[in-house]
Amino acid sequence: MRVAALVLAAGRGERLGASIPKAFLPLAGRPLVVRSIEALAAARPVVEVIVPVLPAAERARFAALARDFAGAERLAEPVAGGAERQDSMRAGLAALPAGIELVAVHDAARPLVRPEDVGRTILAAARTGAALLATPVRDTLKRAADGRVAETLPRAVCWAAQTPQVFRVELLREALAKAEAEGFLGTDDAQLVERLGAPIEIVAGEATNLKVTWPEDVALAEAIWSRRR
Ligand code: C5P
Repeated sequence: MRVAALVLAAGRGERLGASIPKAFLPLAGRPLVVRSIEALAAARPVVEVIVPVLPAAERARFAALARDFAGAERLAEPVAGGAERQDSMRAGLAALPAGIELVAVHDAARPLVRPEDVGRTILAAARTGAALLATPVRDTLKRAADGRVAETLPRAVCWAAQTPQVFRVELLREALAKAEAEGFLGTDDAQLVERLGAPIEIVAGEATNLKVTWPEDVALAEAIWSRRR
């Protein structure tokens, strides 16, 4: 099974309020995007190509990084992302080399993903066509309308979707084409595949695979990182 990964790093990171793009903030001395690439590169089955998707204006900053990290030799030419995450995913998907069968879509903002969890998700998608890492939610989820509770979702069946999310390439292409034809914009990739009615396996991951989003997440990620070593 030939596997590639897209590392989505083209977000502006506005919620973080940092002066540099989120993907370039350091975690233990290396940019988040590099930590994510290292995690994907350490996974088994092997991810043979890693496509970084960056803000168009930041590709030079990425090119200037020393290529002294695991996975650097498997990097494809960086691709310019788009205005929405789905646009960035589309740009990365279009840049995949021919012959790739499975694609793992990963948020660069999740540098703490464990390589073994990446591997388990790839293996699940190899069996079923689509799989994502997720954790059972801890909180009770409320759907709101006009600032009021409209509904309580049953916690026992709710999962928080993470990345990587891994798909047969043709399945993700078909899902993206349908979403675009219908003007649908998803906040993750599995959502597009769900709309085809295709089964997607949930792989139980860890809450530590957090998405660095808010300023305090940077310190939290550092703390998790240092406890692992
Ligand atoms: O904004 P959100 O939390 O959905 O971002 C998740 C990941 O998607 C981040 O790693 C971010 O860099 C990436 N992203 C992107 N292009 C965008 C928006 C987000 O590559 N336009």
